[in-house]
Order: sequence, then C-alpha cells, then structure tokens
Amino acid sequence: MRFHVLTLFPEMVMDGLDTSIIGRAIKNEKIEIEAVNIRDYSKDKHKKVDDYPYGGGAGMVMQAEPVYLAYKAVEEKILERGGSKPRVLYMTPQGKVFHQRMAEEFAKEEDIIFLCGHYEGIDERVLEMIVTDNVSIGDYVLTGGELPAMVMIDSIARLVDGVLNNDDSAKYESFANNLLEYPQYTRPEEFMGMKVPAVLLSGDHKKVEQWREEESIKRTKERRPDLME
Ligand code: SAM
Repeated sequence: MRFHVLTLFPEMVMDGLDTSIIGRAIKNEKIEIEAVNIRDYSKDKHKKVDDYPYGGGAGMVMQAEPVYLAYKAVEEKILERGGSKPRVLYMTPQGKVFHQRMAEEFAKEEDIIFLCGHYEGIDERVLEMIVTDNVSIGDYVLTGGELPAMVMIDSIARLVDGVLNNDDSAKYESFANNLLEYPQYTRPEEFMGMKVPAVLLSGDHKKVEQWREEESIKRTKERRPDLME
C-alpha cells in the first residue's frame, strides 16, 4: 500500500513515521510513504503558497494552484503505474471523525493521498475539485494536517498484511469487535504487592480466553459504553 502526503512540511511527516513498526514496514517494502512538498509546485518566484483571505479576516489561506499541481503530479504517477484514481483525504477539523472502521476501509486501497492544510486552511475551490473524503481526528483545532495524517497512516498501515509481526495482534485489539482490549500483564508475577490474575498463569487456554472476553466486556461497559450500543 502506498501513502502519499501532500504537505508544506515533508520532513515532519517522514521523520515522524520512519521509526519503530512503521519504519520497519517501509524498510521491508510492505508499505511506501512519500511526502510531497506542495511548495515545490508554486510558480511564484519566492515559492509563496499562501495569501490573504478574500473578504478579510485573520490568517492566511493556502492557494489552490500549488495544491492542485502537487495532487496532479501524484495522481499521474499512480495512473501511469496502472493504479486507479486514488481517494484524496483532506485533513480537516470539519470532517468525519476518524475511527477504526474507517481505518479498515482505507486499508483496502492501493494508494491514498493525504492532503494537509496549514494556516487558515486551503482555498475551497481546489478542495471541491480533488477531495473525496473530509476526515478529522477529533473535535479540536491543530495548526496543521501533518499530525492527523501521521495518526491515520499509522493506524491504517498496521492493518496491512505483513506490517505487524503477529497477524493476530490487530484482530484482538481494541475496537476490533466494538470492544476494548482486556488488561495485559508481563513479568514479574508480582509488582509492589500486586499479583497477575491467577487465571493467566493457569495454562488453561479456554479459561484464559473466557476471562479475557469477560474483562473486555466489563472494561468497555465502564469506559466506553457507547461502543456497545
Ligand atoms: N480555519 C480552519 C477551521 O476553522 O476549520 C482550521 C484550520 S487549522 C488551523 C489548519 C489545518 O490543520 C487544517 O487545514 C487541517 O488540515 C488541519 N487540522 C486542524 N485540526 C484538525 C483536526 N482536528 N483533524 C484533522 N485536521 C486538522
């Protein structure tokens, strides 16, 4: 799977993602991530990419043309390779709030383009032309779309075959069945007087499974009853 990020801060995206499990997946060619600098597509002699908002108001707005040209360059490359027209996810606090089901849906794509805004956002006209999905990571405002894109790429990438060492680990994680995961423990058996639940040391797989299921349900009821509705 290939992730293409249109951004004014490519190094932020690449530095943030090229570590740990996602970094290993890039090295092992399970996924590809490219960060495309929108500024490279500015025709302005000073490589300007933003301007004042029509109608006045605070801040600057990213101009349509560099965003459109950056998008076109990526789209062309995908089509030339025989891929289909990619989904374009605009990172915006005005979008649908991202969740695990969306990550599962996006993980089926071959290529996805993430469009990161900055300042007051992006000229609406280019958004109307190229965006297929408006997606938010929550009801708060960030300075740019880079962190949201990184959050989404991380959660989508771990659902791609071969990214996690043990294929089962994504299956039993929180949200997999609209439940939160059960509590986890590791060595030592006793920490500051607190013992690991005895059932986990019993070696009885059936009992362990049953305990985990019960704990999952209990925890979800306590912490996220909305998931069970
Ligand atoms: N003026 C915009 C508004 O009120 O809707 C907010 C612009 S925000 C300061 C700059 C950029 O950060 C946005 O274009 C978007 O790409 C990104 N952004 C901010 N908050 C976000 C969120 N919760 N989810 C996804 N992207 C976000």
